[in-house]
Amino acid sequence: MKQKITVIGAGVGGLTAALKLQAHGYDVTILEKNHHVGGKMNQLKVDGYRFDMGPTIVMMPDVYRQPFVETGADPTDYFTMQRVDPFMTVQIDDERYPISNDLVQLTKLFETSSDADMAGFLNYLADIYRKYLNAKDNFIDRSFRSPRDFFNLKTLKQAFQLKTFSSSYHDMQKFIPNQHLQYLLSFQTLYIGISPFSGPSIYNIIPMIELLYGVWFIDGGMYQYAKALERRFTELGGTIELGHPVEKIVTEQDQVVGVRVQGSVRSTDAVVVNADYPYAVETLLSQDAQRREHVSPQRVNQKLQYSMSCLLLYLGVDRKYQQLGLHTIKMASDFKRNLSEIETGVLPSDPSYYLYNPSALDDSFAPAGCSSLYVLVPVANLRHQHLTEAEAQTYAQQVIQQAEQDFALTDLANHVQVQRVFTPTDFAELYNSKYGTAFGLKPTLRQSNYFRPHNKARRIQGLYFAGASTHPGAGVPIVITSGELAAREVERDGSDD
Ligand SMILES: Cc1cc2nc3c(=O)[nH]c(=O)nc-3n(C[C@H](O)[C@H](O)[C@H](O)COP(=O)(O)OP(=O)(O)OC[C@H]3O[C@@H](n4cnc5c(N)ncnc54)[C@H](O)[C@@H]3O)c2cc1C
Repeated sequence: MKQKITVIGAGVGGLTAALKLQAHGYDVTILEKNHHVGGKMNQLKVDGYRFDMGPTIVMMPDVYRQPFVETGADPTDYFTMQRVDPFMTVQIDDERYPISNDLVQLTKLFETSSDADMAGFLNYLADIYRKYLNAKDNFIDRSFRSPRDFFNLKTLKQAFQLKTFSSSYHDMQKFIPNQHLQYLLSFQTLYIGISPFSGPSIYNIIPMIELLYGVWFIDGGMYQYAKALERRFTELGGTIELGHPVEKIVTEQDQVVGVRVQGSVRSTDAVVVNADYPYAVETLLSQDAQRREHVSPQRVNQKLQYSMSCLLLYLGVDRKYQQLGLHTIKMASDFKRNLSEIETGVLPSDPSYYLYNPSALDDSFAPAGCSSLYVLVPVANLRHQHLTEAEAQTYAQQVIQQAEQDFALTDLANHVQVQRVFTPTDFAELYNSKYGTAFGLKPTLRQSNYFRPHNKARRIQGLYFAGASTHPGAGVPIVITSGELAAREVERDGSDD
């Protein structure tokens, strides 16, 4: 008989794990608390405007294609994408930098700054590329089960070669003297919710991947990808039950036997948890299971560290601003101070923020002549700061004024037809994201690789984890990998029987 697998959550991690298992002959059901698939890869539709609510920047396109190729499908039958060039404009003080993913164009930026910046950039790329190959093969694309998987001479040597003991910023600064160029190569760690001034240097692979492999746009927006995964999964016979929050994972001794939904227990052979790991172990596991897994609520609330969150504005605007491309970033003049404010729970006075304008490429996001804008401001998570509704609204107005000035968005406030504000509290309530983080557990050195929650539970049999707070970490391509690793662990146990 087919093994029955229950996946808790239809985020990217849950969908990719489910798809792989369904394609490999398991009988998979996804139970999702909300009424949409995709989790944080969500969309909002209001009065003719459409907004991607979460991820917007597509990097590592091959990883996006992988779940389709692996299950025997042509990805282009499910979603299409285009490379964006220049892929981003970054504004620092009064300087504006268009960032090209054509290496020849890009190097001009460094060469015109100084010979030292250019030589430093080339050395930086070579150094980080070597580390990337090491990280990819030995740490990202593989899961860890037992201490033996990590604490062996070969792996420890590979970990040591990553030389990841200093911060991303510190490591990159050694190569590149110009401060603006340093800023251009450092904000990308915010994509996984950690400051470049405190995050491990290995996360310099993010700007490297962005520059070398480019940034892409999924036609129709990011949400099309969640719909594509859903379509492929259901075509293969998988079941998704939306509006079905799981209340408990039911275990007997050290074995998963079922899940409790709407008060009744459904039996299952195994569970893949895609719901945020710290929330799930604190809320869905029984005390006995927590004890076996060594994950007490005290550990979840006091020992684990959490990534930052963000405040999001979705603005339906009744005009277009030609000066705004697809992705624009405004960096705070004092970026270091900006990040230390976030880490200590202070609402930034001079925030860095990100503007996404899909209407620059795709007319389907807004009525004719209008545009759908998304503004993301990194802010503290709920462990450090609670914004009231009124505070969030006031701050949102300040950010709109700031963007109006920074990018000459003439009369923006008066052109806003639709406005929605999304806060850390919304992340906690809508997605069960612990402390309302946008990116899950913080990827510190002590919460990365072997030290991040594994894709297979330590002691409970039939329990697996996929998603941003688990190995290998946050960001859509990395979460896709986590879904694949969790599925691989299920299959490995199946074949061990
Ligand atoms: C604002 C924002 C911008 C981002 N930008 C980018 C970007 O540009 N590029 C990029 O690559 N990444 C980006 N990311 C990161 C990326 O979106 C996430 O890392 C990824 O989508 C997380 O997927 P996940 O599967 O781990 O979790 P989630 O998306 O959180 O999915 C978990 C699912 O579990 C469900 N769930 C929770 N509890 C239960 C329960 N009890 N029962 C049933 N279901 C439950 C939730 O409803 C949710 O659907 C961004 C994230 C945010 C928030």
